[in-house]
Amino acid sequence: MRLIMLGAPGAGKGTQAKKIAEKYSIPHISTGDIFRANIKNGTELGKKAKTYMDQGLLVPDELVCDLVVDRVGQPDCEKGYVLDGFPRTIPQAESLDAALKAVGSKIDYAIDVDVPDENIISRMSGRRACLKCGATYHLKYAAPKKEGVCDTCGEALVLREDDKPETVQKRLNVYHEQTQPLIDYYTKAEILVTVDGTKDMEEVFQAITEILDK
Ligand code: ADP
Ligand code: AMP
Repeated sequence: MRLIMLGAPGAGKGTQAKKIAEKYSIPHISTGDIFRANIKNGTELGKKAKTYMDQGLLVPDELVCDLVVDRVGQPDCEKGYVLDGFPRTIPQAESLDAALKAVGSKIDYAIDVDVPDENIISRMSGRRACLKCGATYHLKYAAPKKEGVCDTCGEALVLREDDKPETVQKRLNVYHEQTQPLIDYYTKAEILVTVDGTKDMEEVFQAITEILDK
């Protein structure tokens, strides 16, 4: 099962992707997590990506595409994967399609988690992230057991630099300009499915599994 999660920043792509990965035993591949791990480890890629991420801009396609194509070619992706945060531009989608076609593979579903802009800012200001293991929490909707501490690995939780309200608005603009056209792209490819991301997390997940289990 090869899946793509689409949706605005903060729509719940990562939340749902983790649940899908667990239920169907496939890897969850988040390009945002990959960049954040590179930033934490001080790699060249991390240094380059950070300058864009902190401004709420997309990292250039050439820094993202090869990385993802290489990752989905790894043995643990043979039975499928769930891509979270990639593709984010039409050239990224085309590059993924071409790479998959070359090995006789294709994406099964692009799942659009639909949340209007007015809900996004509050979602993002309440998000807390663990930069060590990639776990995500929300102060109101998914609080950690102990305030400010990751349930999974004990690391201190942070408000991501790019989740501050001034950057969130910029990321939303970038989403509408560069990523939303993918809705059309995958509609034409007849693999787009849309779920209402304003529902609570379990209801959204149920809607997704109903589609995947059909
Ligand atoms: P994305 O990966 O699309 O940027 P996340 O999965 O990190 O979004 O979710 C953004 C924030 O909203 C997180 O703090 C998460 O806990 C919370 N969240 C996710 N889904 C829901 C939901 N259905 N209802 C309320 N809060 C949610
Ligand atoms: P995310 O964790 O998915 O919200 O991503 C955080 C940030 O990482 C984005 O705002 C971008 O700056 C960068 N990023 C993640 N994935 C991509 C991608 N596919 N293309 C370009 N930039 C990306």
